[in-house]
Amino acid sequence: MTDAAELKRRTADLLAAYPPPDTDRPAFLRARFDAGLAWVHYPEGLGGLGAPRTLQAVVDAELEAAGAPDNDPRRIGIGLGMAAPTILRYGTEEQKQRFLRPLWTGEEVWCQLFSEPGAGSDLAALGTRAVREGDSWVVDGQKVWTSSAHLARWAILIARTDPDVPKHQGITYFICDMTDPGVEVRPLRQITGEAEFNEVFLTDVRIPDARRLGEVGDGWRVAQTTLMNERVSIGGMRLPREGGMIGPVARTWRERPELRTHDLHQRLLKLWVESEVSRLTAERLRQQLVAGQPGPEGSGTKLAFARLNQEISGLEVELLGKEGLLYDDWTMRRPELVDFTGRDAGYRYLRAKGNSIEGGTSEVLLNIVAERVLGLPAEPRTDKDVAWKDLAR
Ligand SMILES: Cc1cc2nc3c(=O)[nH]c(=O)nc-3n(C[C@H](O)[C@H](O)[C@H](O)COP(=O)(O)OP(=O)(O)OC[C@H]3O[C@@H](n4cnc5c(N)ncnc54)[C@H](O)[C@@H]3O)c2cc1C
Repeated sequence: MTDAAELKRRTADLLAAYPPPDTDRPAFLRARFDAGLAWVHYPEGLGGLGAPRTLQAVVDAELEAAGAPDNDPRRIGIGLGMAAPTILRYGTEEQKQRFLRPLWTGEEVWCQLFSEPGAGSDLAALGTRAVREGDSWVVDGQKVWTSSAHLARWAILIARTDPDVPKHQGITYFICDMTDPGVEVRPLRQITGEAEFNEVFLTDVRIPDARRLGEVGDGWRVAQTTLMNERVSIGGMRLPREGGMIGPVARTWRERPELRTHDLHQRLLKLWVESEVSRLTAERLRQQLVAGQPGPEGSGTKLAFARLNQEISGLEVELLGKEGLLYDDWTMRRPELVDFTGRDAGYRYLRAKGNSIEGGTSEVLLNIVAERVLGLPAEPRTDKDVAWKDLAR
């Protein structure tokens, strides 16, 4: 079993062979992947060493101290947090070898083609069709809210391959090349003025069967791995104390005593404590994940994350008074990365609105917690045994 001492030794060897000041960024990241120090809990040969996930912190600390470049995880969150665990679990050996290395180094950005205009919370109702033709699938349909599609080389895609069976059964999971003819990406401008996400039109897109992930018709099960990991990756990021939304408002509180009131003080203290509890709960969840795949607990973390981000950014706007109503820039940007705690208070307040929608709405996550964590009676589902083609739309 690889332990902390062994990881430190391997990290020192990597730094000696590829000194950060003399090595360009992609070359360093590729070497780190090949040394098994990318994500230590992944298998050997795929960027890891089969070590406990918690030991990643040992490697990260050594590399940070040496000034080594990182893979800018916020820029490639969908690849790291969603595509990679799904490929690891369901991919063929060839797929793992082809996709995981450039995904981790950030040389290939990924996006997620799941939501559709008529299928968001009820994702299994999706209508994008994939029809088999020889060794390929021909895909037609429309996806929406696709974050980073304008930057992405690859997408994880779910499509309907059998309309004659109930909706959860006729779905198949694919890897789609975003540079293929027939893939059209159009920006969607959001409340912040930015266009982080897009609508994506798929017209006669040909996907080789070799880029199917999992069995034909088993796409819903494969997608569960993506969705469970998505919730952990949105709500369960590793953060230092005051590393999240509470950071900027706590700083303003300390630096601007003239803004303080007793009422805001009480609310800030309460939110500070809740943020800390939420941060430590996410840490505990990550430690539980050492043993396997995330379960419905990730939904709880993501729920708390969305609620706190909205309450804290609201408090910050109140604290700043008139200043809080200013907005720095309405020009439509296409950001390379999304930082919920970045820019100014107005941006943070507006961007936080999306936190209770992206990665599953808070209402839907509450349903998951009710049914799968608390064991409460399930919502009535009348469409479980009806063929997808016969559902009302
Ligand atoms: C910033 C952002 C980024 C996103 N990025 C991506 C992406 O990269 N890829 C992708 O595929 N999708 C992405 N999404 C889409 C996101 O997953 C969906 O918006 C979300 O799942 C909700 O679906 P919907 O918008 O169709 O709303 P609907 O499902 O139509 O929901 C409308 C309202 O009804 C409520 N509701 C629905 N069903 C229930 C129920 N059973 N019980 C109680 N209430 C219910 C919802 O909570 C919501 O308030 C993104 C969304 C946002 C905001």
